[in-house]
Amino acid sequence: MKIADLYTRSGLTLSVEFFAPKTDKGDENLLSEIEIIKQVNPGYCSVTYGAGGSTRDKTVDMVGRIHRQCGLEVMGHLTVVGQSKAEARAVLDAFKQRGIVNLLALGGDPPQGMTDWRPHPDGFHYAAELVREAVARGGFSIAVAGFPEVHPRAVSRASDLGYLKEKVEAGADAIITQLFFDNDDYYRYVEDVRRLGVKVPIVPGVLPILSASQVRRFTALCQAKIPPQLDAVLAKVEQDDAAAVEAGIDYATRQCEGLIKFGVPGLHFYSLNKSYSLRAICKNLGL
Ligand code: FAD
Repeated sequence: MKIADLYTRSGLTLSVEFFAPKTDKGDENLLSEIEIIKQVNPGYCSVTYGAGGSTRDKTVDMVGRIHRQCGLEVMGHLTVVGQSKAEARAVLDAFKQRGIVNLLALGGDPPQGMTDWRPHPDGFHYAAELVREAVARGGFSIAVAGFPEVHPRAVSRASDLGYLKEKVEAGADAIITQLFFDNDDYYRYVEDVRRLGVKVPIVPGVLPILSASQVRRFTALCQAKIPPQLDAVLAKVEQDDAAAVEAGIDYATRQCEGLIKFGVPGLHFYSLNKSYSLRAICKNLGL
């Protein structure tokens, strides 16, 4: 089912993001975690495209396997960075051949070890161009990324919102947000996006914390802030990952309660290929 249709159903659409493992063992672990995650009845799941396009074949292979073996609706991520237009088109074709109709069209993170973002000489420069390409090829329902705290490379909040609108006008059916830990940032973002006349679902991205050091690393990478209420939680679990997982479940549960009350169309979980926190959060929420 296309995501455009999933978000028109009544009720909350849960989606779960995985990264494409690098090894066969990682693949098998992920497929067993997915069997557990299926119990929370996600509307769809998605598989990331490694930084700089580094997991092209792995991503294509894994979306195909999840679709075929697990019977779950899948969305393939595709980024424009680090590859030519011809290579990006080949991935769109490979998704299609595997029956994948949902696409998350992205600019992409630079390859590991590189900090500045440079377009491929023969590649697309921005996600909006990939949206246009996928629309022209036909058959895809497309989501794009949104940044409640403003994308780190954006010149201004206004320009970032303007380019988001361009992606939707190009044909995107939904916006999935970067992780955030202060719901007010999401609420303000939704208000700003709606003010521009953009009407597609804006799905909040939620990260269940697995360790204090990891969340500090992630937030530094994507320049998301750690609000004081989360900082206080992390300070108590700095050296204790098991306690951090439980604190993360508690924090994400409270975050999701607020988001559901606000009326979000869905929740997109950055699962890091783990089922434990996700199941606990869904149980807490009665989902
Ligand atoms: P774009 O929409 O191209 O925007 C990038 C920047 O350029 C923004 O600052 C924007 O304001 C600006 N901009 C856009 N259009 C123009 C224009 N015409 N002129 C000038 N400036 C412009 N990364 C990965 O590598 N792999 C993944 O699988 C992945 N999955 C993600 C999933 C989600 C839900 C999210 C939120 C992010 C994900 N990312 C992933 C990270 C994302 O690719 C990066 O943050 C990337 O830097 C921005 O992507 P974008 O799609 O917003 O890019």
